[in-house]
Amino acid sequence: MISAVMPTYGRADIAFEKGEGPYLFSTEGVRYLDFTSGIAVNSLGHAHPRLVAALGAQAEKLWHTSNMFEIPGQQILAQRLVENTFADTVFFCNSGAEAMECGIKVVRSHFDAAGDPGRYRIICANQAFHGRTLATIAAGGQDKLLKGFAPAVDGFDHVGFGNLNETRAAIGDQTAALLIEPVQGEGGVRIAQEDYLQGLRQIADEYGLLLFFDEVQCGMGRTGKLFAHEWAGLTPDVMAVAKGIGGGFPVGACLTTGDAASGMVAGSHGSTYGGNPLAMAVANTVMDVMLEDGFLAHVRDMGARLLGGLETLVCAHPSILADARGRGLMVGLVCTGDPKALISKLRDNRLLTVLAGGNVVRLLPPLITQEAQIDEALAILDESCAQLGKGP
Ligand SMILES: *Cc1c(COP(=O)(O)O)cnc(C)c1O
Repeated sequence: MISAVMPTYGRADIAFEKGEGPYLFSTEGVRYLDFTSGIAVNSLGHAHPRLVAALGAQAEKLWHTSNMFEIPGQQILAQRLVENTFADTVFFCNSGAEAMECGIKVVRSHFDAAGDPGRYRIICANQAFHGRTLATIAAGGQDKLLKGFAPAVDGFDHVGFGNLNETRAAIGDQTAALLIEPVQGEGGVRIAQEDYLQGLRQIADEYGLLLFFDEVQCGMGRTGKLFAHEWAGLTPDVMAVAKGIGGGFPVGACLTTGDAASGMVAGSHGSTYGGNPLAMAVANTVMDVMLEDGFLAHVRDMGARLLGGLETLVCAHPSILADARGRGLMVGLVCTGDPKALISKLRDNRLLTVLAGGNVVRLLPPLITQEAQIDEALAILDESCAQLGKGP
């Protein structure tokens, strides 16, 4: 018989009762160091006092009105995103897939408004992940996402991640945009190198295409910059954001230039819940904290400490660990074999991590993590590799 909760996830057999900063406490009272952050969502850790206060204060005043009316919190957050990024305008929604859907609609409507509606195809990268809606699984393009859900939404072509020659060769009369994650998350913490990103910007300009970044996972401070593309010193035309922006409250956003959004007018897009007062109260507080002096520098420092420690572990346990890579606090540990045994051993030893593609264990600590917890995680990793090395 099918379970009451639709069985779409492979879940670990553990539930949590409360969280505190980078720690989670199971219903059995066991404390875990949480290097998943709810998959890069709990950017400020669990039960951050300022987020708790912001949500509580808003909950007593007003939860929801719909977008039939002005929502002042949206104007404040949009203005701050505009001031701190390339963007001129922001659409608010509730998840990463919705932010991506909005971006795809922005791309199509831009060329429709320009009198060129036949230009709608988007060139995407192999191993990409953009969400689980029909259009975003087509953008992701991997068989494991699409299987069983045919026919795939039309309009997405795929080339090698990092491959500028393949990207150029894939451009046709119908190509409208280039889409990548500046750091692939689900794909295995693969970093788009600076010259690749610069090449994409050049190609987009040369052919009049829109450059579209999915920063749902790598954005909002995760890599030690507010957005990961800032490392390459260039800007996209469209960007999807979610996960870390709500700190655990469901918030998504699609940021674009004014030119890219030329087709988005009243009635063209919408969301009942998108940007409601509760979501905006929390997301504005996340922004308050992230824009404070030293916040992003802390992420870079902790990231360097973590990656440095992991590189030492790779040398110490070559039969289990093949490589460590990452930027800021978005880090991948490449295993020599199936990483599931390591993830489960780490969980036994009270460290929570996330599986990613390409035999990678993803480490996504909350951005407020301190030295002591980085060192605690490294010690658990060292011990777990030693235990695995001894065999069962
Ligand atoms: C998680 C993720 C998404 C989808 O976000 P949801 O909130 O699960 O819809 C899209 N793109 C990237 C890069 C992601 O990591």
